[in-house]
Amino acid sequence: MHQSMAKVRGNEKTLDSYTVKAINESIRPGDCVFMRSPNPSKPPYIAKVDKIVSDDNGSNVKVHIRWYYRPEESKDGKQPFHGSTEVFISDHRDVQSPDTIEGKCKVHTFKSYTSLDDIGNDDFFCRFEYHSSTGDFTPNSVAVYCTCEMPYNPDQFMIQCDGCTDWFHPDCLKMTVDEAKTIEHLFCRSCSSEEQRILQNPRANSRNSTMKVETKRRRR
Ligand SMILES: [Zn+2]
Ligand SMILES: [Zn+2]
Repeated sequence: MHQSMAKVRGNEKTLDSYTVKAINESIRPGDCVFMRSPNPSKPPYIAKVDKIVSDDNGSNVKVHIRWYYRPEESKDGKQPFHGSTEVFISDHRDVQSPDTIEGKCKVHTFKSYTSLDDIGNDDFFCRFEYHSSTGDFTPNSVAVYCTCEMPYNPDQFMIQCDGCTDWFHPDCLKMTVDEAKTIEHLFCRSCSSEEQRILQNPRANSRNSTMKVETKRRRR
């Protein structure tokens, strides 16, 4: 059984690209694609094309893919810091028919996503690798910000403190987003009380050292 399987594999041809007729688009290894979900009320699945293969004569095309998981599909579910366009590259691989491909999309690194000028319906970002059998993530910790100690969610506006350079949610500073956007220089609560203390006692300048430790706190 295994030997005959191996022989079939041996006759496989690897394709550099393949045109999915239904959408009239050419896909290549490395592309990210939407794949039809069996449940039509759910958003399409997202996958990364690893390899495209066919029989010797070019028929029976299959795409080898690696699934992206959406936060809702992970073991612990969607967390408050997960963005609406966040996906996790997983170790879950599959072989699919190219007919299930509904279109192409882009999965950016976190950094390039946060510097996009325009975010379209086909733009996503990935900052974690998800281990589908254990539900673990790599990296298993991430920098946290603000008094609420949350990792950065790009859906939420944040403002930077001029003192400690930590980032804050306007909500957590008891102000509105509009108010935060008009502030030129922000000093968070601990920095403004520290400022007061330094004014009263100019030699007590321990701000930088203590704050650096603070912003290095990490949490998943
Ligand atoms: Zn906060
Ligand atoms: Zn501060």
